[in-house]
Amino acid sequence: MNLILLGPPGAGKGTQAKLLEQKLNMLQLSTGDMLRAAKDKESEIGKKIKLIMAEGNLVTDEIVIELISENIDKSSKCAGFIFDGFPRTLYQADALSELMSSKKQSIDLVIEMRVDDSQLIERIVGRYSCKECGEVYHKVNRPEQKKGVCDNCKSINGFIFREDDTEEALRTRLFNYYRETSSLIGYYYAKKKLTTVDGLLPIETIHDLLYQATKNNL
Ligand code: AMP
Repeated sequence: MNLILLGPPGAGKGTQAKLLEQKLNMLQLSTGDMLRAAKDKESEIGKKIKLIMAEGNLVTDEIVIELISENIDKSSKCAGFIFDGFPRTLYQADALSELMSSKKQSIDLVIEMRVDDSQLIERIVGRYSCKECGEVYHKVNRPEQKKGVCDNCKSINGFIFREDDTEEALRTRLFNYYRETSSLIGYYYAKKKLTTVDGLLPIETIHDLLYQATKNNL
């Protein structure tokens, strides 16, 4: 069972992917996380990726397809993959379909998480995460319970803001979502794979909906 979470930045794809992963023995494949790891390497390609990401633009199809392909090959022992932030272009969607076919697998379900644009900026600007475990917080909506201590792993090593969580970069990310990614909604609808959930519902309610939809396909 392989699932794609589709939606604009700030829709909650990462949060939901992590919750599903824990419950269903599936594996989250986030190209954003893979690229964040790659950009910190002191290579030429690392520097290029860092700049593209900081501006909120898309990294080339070739790079992300290569990353996804490597990670699929490394991880065979899970009940399926949760693609988070991939595919983001029609070219990537076609490449994923071919990659899955070559492994005698398929994309079984695509869940679009729909969130009003006006809410996205508010959700993203002010977002930060624990340096150790990556737990995500928000200055207004969800600060840590005890200042400076991660609720999840109790680390006191501090928190980080994403470089591309500024209002300016977010506007570019949103622009790219509408220009490159949103046509995938129609693409997967036509393939009868698409389900849509209201991304403004509480996190637990969305999780229940996603869990049921995924389990029904297992
Ligand atoms: P995310 O963590 O999914 O919000 O991704 C952060 C950034 O990584 C994006 O704004 C892009 O610069 C880059 N990125 C992540 N996934 C992709 C992808 N599938 N294609 C191109 N660029 C990507």
